[in-house]
Amino acid sequence: MDIILHGPPGAGKGTQSDNICEKLGIVAISTGDLIRAEIKNGTELGNTVKEYSSQGKLVPDEIVMGILAKRLEQDDVSNGVLFDGFPRTVNQATMLKEWLAQRGRSINAVFSLKITDDESMFRCTYRLSNPETKKSYHIYYHKLKVLARSETDFTPIFCSPDGTRLTMRDDALPHKVQTRIDTYHNETEPMLGKLETDFNYKVFDVDGMPNIPVIKEEINKIIAENL
Ligand code: AMP
Repeated sequence: MDIILHGPPGAGKGTQSDNICEKLGIVAISTGDLIRAEIKNGTELGNTVKEYSSQGKLVPDEIVMGILAKRLEQDDVSNGVLFDGFPRTVNQATMLKEWLAQRGRSINAVFSLKITDDESMFRCTYRLSNPETKKSYHIYYHKLKVLARSETDFTPIFCSPDGTRLTMRDDALPHKVQTRIDTYHNETEPMLGKLETDFNYKVFDVDGMPNIPVIKEEINKIIAENL
């Protein structure tokens, strides 16, 4: 089974993707994670994509496709994939459709998480993560403690409940999050509309505003009734 999971920045895609993958026995591939890994490795390609992603802009299609193609060569994709945050343009959707068709597969469902722009901003600008495990935490929702303060300007340094120092993504600054939100409305949402009308995929809108277990239950209900 092959699934697309979408939503504006901070909609909870990563969190819900674990649940869906476990339920359907498929692997998650997040193009955002692949891009961040490329940047972390400090490759030439990493430096190129950083120019775009650190500003909250979309990485050009041919570069994203090249990075994704490498990941899709691995054996674990044969049982099905949850595409997290991919495709983001019609061009990417067309290329994905072709890749799946060559393997006798097609997208079985699209989950589109919906949250308001204010919530998107609130979740992203207060989100920190553990650099090793990649687990995300929200300063308010997880009531994070201040581990120390910067010696230069006294800004707080937060830690996870187990005491690990947390870091912030470089696209989490408010003006960059705003660009990501705008990009979602201007480029990704029109593409999502076309997935339903032109690609004939089943698109399920899911309210991403409630807490994690409520969203999980809603997604599980859609899976049980439709897939
Ligand atoms: P995400 O973690 O999904 O929010 O992605 C982080 C950043 O990676 C985005 O703001 C884009 O710069 C880039 N990115 C992720 N997926 C794609 C994609 N499918 N197409 C273009 N850029 C992407």
